[in-house]
Amino acid sequence: MQLSLVQKYNIPGPRYTSYPTVPYWQEELFHVADWKASVLKSFNESNDSEGISLYIHLPFCESLCTFCGCNKRITKRHEVEHPYIVAVLKEWKMYCEFFPNKPIIKEIHLGGGTPTFFSSAHLELLINGIFLSASKAKNYEFSFEGHPNNTTRQQLQKLYDLGFRRVSFGVQDYSKKVQEAIHRIQPFHNVAKVTFWAKEIGYTSIGHDLIFGLPFQTLDDVIDTINKTKSLQPDRLAFYSYAHVPWIKGNGQRGFNEVDLPKDDEKRLLYEEGKKLLSKNGYHEIGMDHFALENDSMFVSAQKGKLHRNFMGYTASKTQLMIGLGGSSISDSWYAFAQNEKTIEDYFVRLEQNELPIFRGHLLTREDLIIRKHILNLMCQFETSWDNSSMQFPEINEVLQQLKEMEQDGLIAYKENGIIITEKGKPFVRNICMAFDLHLIRKAPDTKLFSMTI
Ligand code: SF4
Repeated sequence: MQLSLVQKYNIPGPRYTSYPTVPYWQEELFHVADWKASVLKSFNESNDSEGISLYIHLPFCESLCTFCGCNKRITKRHEVEHPYIVAVLKEWKMYCEFFPNKPIIKEIHLGGGTPTFFSSAHLELLINGIFLSASKAKNYEFSFEGHPNNTTRQQLQKLYDLGFRRVSFGVQDYSKKVQEAIHRIQPFHNVAKVTFWAKEIGYTSIGHDLIFGLPFQTLDDVIDTINKTKSLQPDRLAFYSYAHVPWIKGNGQRGFNEVDLPKDDEKRLLYEEGKKLLSKNGYHEIGMDHFALENDSMFVSAQKGKLHRNFMGYTASKTQLMIGLGGSSISDSWYAFAQNEKTIEDYFVRLEQNELPIFRGHLLTREDLIIRKHILNLMCQFETSWDNSSMQFPEINEVLQQLKEMEQDGLIAYKENGIIITEKGKPFVRNICMAFDLHLIRKAPDTKLFSMTI
């Protein structure tokens, strides 16, 4: 990758797990009544044909990893599990009461925090509680995030029996020095053990999440981590850039200094070399940051042009309605976004008052829906197209001017009524999306809102 392009385009920018991005939500125009109306509309339009998705946030972790940007609560007190599950089921019941008929669940994803902090019995209570008032879609897909240090065979078996076939394990990097710096000591044999168990039990998609750009991480560390990963043959990999934004994620990102992080060109080299090695080992790059073997549903979905992106990152399929349950979860009705209270205490209080525990959201305008589609197309298919009548907004010349410059830099090529991102342009996909982001164009961001794009 040309250094001059990296220097030009490596600026703070969104990762586009939503459009508009959260800092641009117009919270003052959002009301829970409008949210409910948008959920109902979406439910009526899509429940029978494609079903709905659930994201369930399970926020507890036993120990703090100092690179972490997730919403979590550190505790070793496992008595927090039961009241939390009861609260999540109450929230779900509130949704079910205003759905006009039984929801059909296409996808469930348990994220965290650490879902495997919860005992098998509590995970079973949760999933059985969800299905007291819902049915499974024919081709349902249930997945969860497992911590290699605490996932038990019993949990894997229980979740498999409940219908889960996909699991992803957070690996990050195998170097001891890096693990010490990020406060996550996780030997290879722990990852190997849970991966073998999952294979033996019958999981059809096992993922490992790797990170580049961590403190003290060298190219040798990345190569060693990928070689070890290869020996376990996960079906799917995430290979994320570490986003250092301690001013936003203050409760997690500490314990090392900025000088300990690989610099711009060093960090890019970690990615480029890692990507080459993954590709040599049969992993195909999917969208941004993701890789999959040819047997994995994410690869198949990308081949068919069906890849989707939401708050959890890339997914192999899409439902129009996604309900997020649990503290800090974000829901997406396609016409609106809503986020739950971030602290567990506030989440509980709102539920005790028999209110949906939402504290902010955004209603998408007609213009938002148009731009959202372009951004999804670019992030998932690396191309988009438009008819001129839909692109009537005051900033259109600015958008076209930015695209022209990107074409001159070789990042995109024009096609009839649209653009295609070139191979050279793929690492800059976030920048290309930014050219369409009318909220960003209208109000320049506080540079500290986002991580660097490259
Ligand atoms: S990385 Fe995972 S296990 Fe570590 S603190 Fe964050 S959510 Fe918890």
